[in-house]
Amino acid sequence: MDTDQRETSRNGANQNSRTDNEFVIQKHAARQLHFDFRLAVDGALKSWAVPKGPSLDPADKRLAIEVDDHPLDYADFEGVIPEGNYGAGAVMVWDRGTYRNLRAEGESTISMSSAYHEGLIEVWLEGEKLVGGFALKRFREGKKPQWLLIKMDDSRADARRNPVSTQNKSVKTGRTLDAISREGKEDNRIAGSEVYEN
Ligand code: MN
Repeated sequence: MDTDQRETSRNGANQNSRTDNEFVIQKHAARQLHFDFRLAVDGALKSWAVPKGPSLDPADKRLAIEVDDHPLDYADFEGVIPEGNYGAGAVMVWDRGTYRNLRAEGESTISMSSAYHEGLIEVWLEGEKLVGGFALKRFREGKKPQWLLIKMDDSRADARRNPVSTQNKSVKTGRTLDAISREGKEDNRIAGSEVYEN
């Protein structure tokens, strides 16, 4: 487990209170800015790092690199992962909400975990910024499987809107990434070695 996961589980929010169909997208200013797209599946957050973030244009295929599962409680994390730790940098809760598994609604009912193993996930997101169908398609297996995140062609597709650049504040706190970075570094200084140096 990397540091941010440890930190989250130590803070110990109650996992039982969480819904099992939650999604979150965290904007993460690590060495390279990216968006972490996470879906709660069977008690963990399946996670993908999406360098360009989601698009509402079905013609866009956004690279989504599968990364380690995160604990459900990590969906609430916003702050700064200190220097020297994996993923060091500011993290914003860019969007969150619930999702529906669209593949469970067709003629053949396919669970999220089957969809994941098959490499074709189709979900309807009900977020604060994103609403509509999104597909994740795996196109390369391996240690870090690569997927494409694609807006499905439905009533909520919109090639003119670009929320990644126009809606750049936290849905949790209304802060920009810069503000989170500033305030988070301050918090980390106050928290000091007790929290992070072990
Ligand atoms: Mn990340």
